[in-house]
Amino acid sequence: MSVPEPAGGEEVKQAKEVEDAEKYSFMATVTKAPKKQIQFADDMQEFTKFPTKTGRRSLSRSISQSSTDSYSSAASYTDSSDDEVSPREKQQTNSKGSSNFCVKNIKQAEFGRREIEIAEQDMSALISLRKRAQGEKPLAGAKIVGCTHITAQTAVLIETLCALGAQCRWSACNIYSTQNEVAAALAEAGVAVFAWKGESEDDFWWCIDRCVNIDGWQANMILDDGGDLTHWVYKKYPNVFKKIRGIVEESVTGVHRLYQLSKAGKLCVPAMNVNDSVTKQKFDNLYCCRESILDGLKRTTDVMFGGKQVVVCGYGEVGKGCCAALKALGAIVYVTEIDPICALQACMDGFRVVKLSEVIRQVDVVITCTGNKNVVTREHLDRMKNSCIVCNMGHSNTEIDVTSLRTPELTWERVRSQVDHIIWPDGKRVVLLAEGRLLNLSCSTVPTFVLSITATTQALALIELYNAPEGRYKQDVYLLPKKMDEYVASLHLPSFDAHLTELTDDQAKYLGLNKNGPFKPNYYRY
Ligand code: NAD
Repeated sequence: MSVPEPAGGEEVKQAKEVEDAEKYSFMATVTKAPKKQIQFADDMQEFTKFPTKTGRRSLSRSISQSSTDSYSSAASYTDSSDDEVSPREKQQTNSKGSSNFCVKNIKQAEFGRREIEIAEQDMSALISLRKRAQGEKPLAGAKIVGCTHITAQTAVLIETLCALGAQCRWSACNIYSTQNEVAAALAEAGVAVFAWKGESEDDFWWCIDRCVNIDGWQANMILDDGGDLTHWVYKKYPNVFKKIRGIVEESVTGVHRLYQLSKAGKLCVPAMNVNDSVTKQKFDNLYCCRESILDGLKRTTDVMFGGKQVVVCGYGEVGKGCCAALKALGAIVYVTEIDPICALQACMDGFRVVKLSEVIRQVDVVITCTGNKNVVTREHLDRMKNSCIVCNMGHSNTEIDVTSLRTPELTWERVRSQVDHIIWPDGKRVVLLAEGRLLNLSCSTVPTFVLSITATTQALALIELYNAPEGRYKQDVYLLPKKMDEYVASLHLPSFDAHLTELTDDQAKYLGLNKNGPFKPNYYRY
C-alpha cells in the first residue's frame, strides 16, 4: 500500500486511524479522516539550521529556488526601485487610520485591488467557498499567521480566510515575489501584512517577527510555504505552540522539515502536508508546467516551436506537462529518463527516449525537469549547436551546471532580462534562460486557476485542522483526507460546466464505495 510519495523517497506507512466526526455543513461530503500518513526517511537531516533563501526552495510553483527569482512580476505595476526609502522607515496609515502593516506604498492599494479582482475571476472555487461557509464562519476565532508569496492569487486566499472568520497576519516567503500593490490592497482592507518586493535578509525575518511577536494577539494557526515561519516560531517563540492548533505547509521543503521535526519527536502540533495532496501535486506540477513552459520560453526568446527539436530531461509530472505542450506546437520532442516506467510512458506517449549525449548536437532547446543535479554538464554545453536554448523547470538551479560556464574563456552577454548568451571562443552562442533557475517562475506568470486549486486545498486544510475535535490529529504530519481532495476538485468543476455522473445504489454496492466518495483508495495514483 502506498500513497503519493513525497520527494526525497520517504516511505509511506500505514496512518494512524483517526476518529470520524461531524464536519461543517458546507462540506457535508467531507467526512472521513486521513487513512495514511507519510513517515520520515531515516537519512533526513535535523531541523536545526536557519534556512537561507538561497538553494533551499523546492518544488511548488510558488517557490523560487533563489532569492533573485521573480514571481508573477509581469503583473506588477511597480518595482522596488520606485522609492528607495525602506518601508520600515515610513509612517503609513490606511484610510481607516490603521498603521498595523508595513508595505512599500499604501497609495498603490487601488491598483492592487484591481489585480485581486482579476485573480478572483479565475478563483471561483475560493469565492464559492466564501459563500458556502460565510453563514457558519468556520474560521471564527482563528488567528492565522501566514508566510506565503504575496500575490493577487494569495490575496484571494487571505481574504477568503478573513471572510470565513479568521484574523490574519501575513509576511512574504520570498524577498522578491511580493506584488507591492497587492500588499497595499490587503493592508488597506485591514490585513496586517508585512512585505514588500526587494526585502533584505534582515527585513525578511523582521517581517516574520512582526507577524508573530505582537502584544495582545497570539496566533493559533500557521500557514507556511517553505517552513521559514514555522522555523522562526520554533526558534524564537516556542511558547506560541501552546496555542497553535495546527500547521498547514504547502512546499516540499517545508514538508520535509516537518517530517524531520516529527521524526525527531519535536513536532508539537499536528501539521497538514498540502504538497502531497493530489489536487496540488497532479495539477500544479503537470498542468501549471504544461501552460507555463511555452510562456516562459516565448517571452524570453520569441522562439517558434514548429519543427524545432527539443529534449526534455525527466518525464515525471513536470516533464509530461512540458512535453505535451511542446508536442502540441509541432516540436520534435525527445525525452531522457533514468526510470524505466517513466521512460516507457514517454514511449507510449510517442516520444523518443534517448540519452542526452545522443541528441545534444542537434537539438534546438534543452529543458531539465528532473529535480536532480548536473543533468546538463559542461561537456553537454560544449557540444550544443549555436543558438541552442537551455533552461530548467525543476526546483533546483543545479540541474544545469551553470557554474561550469563561469570560466574565463567564455563570455556572458546579458541580452534581455533573464536571458544570457554564453559565447564560446569560436563564436558559438548558447542561450541560457534565468541562469538555470525555474523558468516559469522567473520569466512568466503561472495560471491563476491552478493556484486556485492549491489555495482551496490550503483553506480546507486550515478549516479541518482548526475545527478538528481533540485527538483526531496527533503531533504528526498528515495528508489532507481524500474526501477533501475530491471536494477541492468538485469545487472547480463548475468552471468547466462539467457534470459528474452519480453512482447508482447498485453500482456503489458493486464497487464497494460510498456514493458520496471517497472514490479512490489512498494508494490510487491518478
Ligand atoms: P517527478 O519525480 O515526478 O519527475 C522527475 C523525473 O526525472 C523522474 O521521472 C525521474 O526518474 C527523472 N530523473 C531523475 N534524474 C534524472 C536524470 N539524471 N536524467 C533524466 N531523468 C531523470 O517530479 P516532478 O513533479 O516532475 O518535478 C520535477 C521537478 O520540477 C522538481 O524539482 C520539482 O520541484 C519541480 N517543479 C517545478 C514546478 C514549476 O512550476 N516549474 C512545479 C512543480 C514542480
